[in-house]
Amino acid sequence: MRDIGRCRYEENSPQREMLLMRLADLGVRLITRVRFNQITKKGILITQDGGSEFQDADSIVLAVTTAPNQDLMQALEREGISAHAVGDCMEPRGVKEAIDEGLRVALAL
Ligand SMILES: Cc1cc2nc3c(=O)[nH]c(=O)nc-3n(C[C@H](O)[C@H](O)[C@H](O)COP(=O)(O)OP(=O)(O)OC[C@H]3O[C@@H](n4cnc5c(N)ncnc54)[C@H](O)[C@@H]3O)c2cc1C
Repeated sequence: MRDIGRCRYEENSPQREMLLMRLADLGVRLITRVRFNQITKKGILITQDGGSEFQDADSIVLAVTTAPNQDLMQALEREGISAHAVGDCMEPRGVKEAIDEGLRVALAL
């Protein structure tokens, strides 16, 4: 597997090659594994390898990854405060799952 930003395609899949060629034809520049600091009307300020640079752009497509953040749960556990984790802090998914899990916990209290 190859990680193009967060788009995962089989390394030699025809779909991946086609997508990359199409993007290249359209003049789309792929910038991966960077942090973005600011988006303005003129482009985007990114940080890569410790340095910041401004990239001119008229359109920006963010392809970001998601990961659960359990900092708050862990902090509450350390303080001995009872808490129930629901939604994206368990595993990033969608609004429906977060609401379902919240409702289930609320009904069980
Ligand atoms: C760009 C984007 C587009 C999306 N589009 C869709 C979509 O179209 N359909 C769909 O179903 N889902 C979509 N999702 C996913 C959806 O937003 C999440 O699954 C959903 O919001 C999860 O709800 P949650 O309550 O678990 O977390 P969140 O909505 O992230 O809420 C967590 C809240 O806790 C707060 N918080 C975090 N840490 C602390 C702390 N230490 N102290 C106090 N507060 C804290 C945060 O500020 C936040 O307000 C999208 C997500 C993103 C990022």
